[in-house]
Amino acid sequence: MTKNIVKAGNIEFGSSRQILIAGPCSVEGLDILLQIAHEAKTAGADMLRAGAFKPRTHSSSFQGLGFEAIEYLKIAKKETGLPIVVEVLEPSQIGPVLAAADMLQIGTRNMYNYPLLKEVGAAGCPVLLKRGISATIEEWVGAASYIGHDQIVLCERGVRTFDPETRNMLDLCAVPVIQQKTSMPIIVDPSHSTGHRNYVAPMARGALAAGADGLLIESHINPEKSISDSAQTIDIKTLGDIAKFRDNLINLFLR
Ligand code: PEP
Ligand code: MN
Repeated sequence: MTKNIVKAGNIEFGSSRQILIAGPCSVEGLDILLQIAHEAKTAGADMLRAGAFKPRTHSSSFQGLGFEAIEYLKIAKKETGLPIVVEVLEPSQIGPVLAAADMLQIGTRNMYNYPLLKEVGAAGCPVLLKRGISATIEEWVGAASYIGHDQIVLCERGVRTFDPETRNMLDLCAVPVIQQKTSMPIIVDPSHSTGHRNYVAPMARGALAAGADGLLIESHINPEKSISDSAQTIDIKTLGDIAKFRDNLINLFLR
């Protein structure tokens, strides 16, 4: 199917360039965010993603810096020029987040939150819609229809299965299925799917070779020290290797 081009800031999803979204799971502070953003950009990232409101499994875990993080993201955008994507958990966050963000993320836990999807849609900005942890592809596409416009990028982030070896099971087949059945660009998140930094680069390469329109990768200047999702966070050198693979793949006419 003809692909719909989705514009976020100065980048386009669905064109021949496979978009690399990178950044820490959470905004942890201004200095560290700026350092990560600058290094990720040099490594080849096209867009910065860092969480302000974190939907953690346990309420006692770090919940993100909230609106303070949005102020830091504004500075990161100004300094690096990288467009920003941020997850929102509830409608009241949409307006303030859009003061910094070029795109809103809906995480796996909220894929079925149709009232939130409608509110995000009403804001008129591009949306990154992650697949629900146990959603069929059809349910995921159905959720996208609630957004009510066509500036949507889907993100495959793994589904829950029987095997605890990886955090979730990455469904790479979602890439050709979505591309053949819909016009929405689809990117792949090898971080939340594998849950393990040593598996991120192989699955990122697999996703790029499968023709994904981009990647979302949790990356940090000091992955072991990440406040959230440390186990799956890669360093900037690995991010750079993935970006180089992406750049070389274009020359192989795989896309
Ligand atoms: C995230 O992107 O940081 C996140 C919480 O991901 P997911 O919704 O896929 O679990
Ligand atoms: Mn995370």
